[in-house]
Amino acid sequence: IVSRKNQPDSTVIKVKDTLVGGKASIMVAGPCSVESYQQTREVGAALKEAGVPILRGGAFKPRTSPYDFQGLGIEGLQILKRVGDEFGLATISEIVDPRHLEEAIPYIDIIQIGARNMHNFELLKAAGETRTPVLLKRGLAATMEEFLHAAEYIVSRGNTQVMLIERGIRTYEKWTRNTLDISAVPILKKESHLPVLVDVTHSTGRKDILAPCAKAALAAGADGIMVEVHPNPAVALSDAQQQLNIPEFHNFLSEVKESGLFK
Ligand code: PEP
Ligand code: MN
Repeated sequence: IVSRKNQPDSTVIKVKDTLVGGKASIMVAGPCSVESYQQTREVGAALKEAGVPILRGGAFKPRTSPYDFQGLGIEGLQILKRVGDEFGLATISEIVDPRHLEEAIPYIDIIQIGARNMHNFELLKAAGETRTPVLLKRGLAATMEEFLHAAEYIVSRGNTQVMLIERGIRTYEKWTRNTLDISAVPILKKESHLPVLVDVTHSTGRKDILAPCAKAALAAGADGIMVEVHPNPAVALSDAQQQLNIPEFHNFLSEVKESGLFK
């Protein structure tokens, strides 16, 4: 179903007033984790000011260590929605357990399925039973075929509103957190009609190369970019190293927009 052979026209997904996969490029931004109302609100205000329509924020965090901050759960989603409503932003948050979907959906406009869960077929099937758009992240070591099959798990259950996002893969390279596979963008655009985004934050883990990587993604045909923003990254409860502060976020946006690649 996700193949372009099956549907030559690109899928366009309406999220609140924003179209993903249409003519205009899309920016998704927000903190790695929702930590408090105040923290999320500061980011929401910055997005509003910058004209960025979709606010991300993790509430169920798939952390490497069980001793690290695990997220605020449903309370985090409530904060996200409160801020989204305040500023007219759509919300997106990762869901890690099919049992949380029903309770979570009233608070989010897009369900994020994280890299670690791209192979969680029961979660994919459960997301496929909903009618809420899904942002599916590429697995840490997933091939293009595996990625598209994961998307197929969702759409085959009737939920055709799936967006794909490249977020870097594991290689031997240590100077970036993951390796941004830019070739995934034109391949996915060619093989599938689904919108394709690039998460420049998790793929690189480096604030100093976000703008060139975002420009490369757009030049390669990406429909949008995801980036992490925190009012005070130094004290962030997750991904403190890689989140942009608000002035850095505005600079990042200007640099990407000045390139003319952000349509
Ligand atoms: C995230 O976007 O919050 C996240 C955990 O990313 P990934 O699943 O790509 O590691
Ligand atoms: Mn993160």
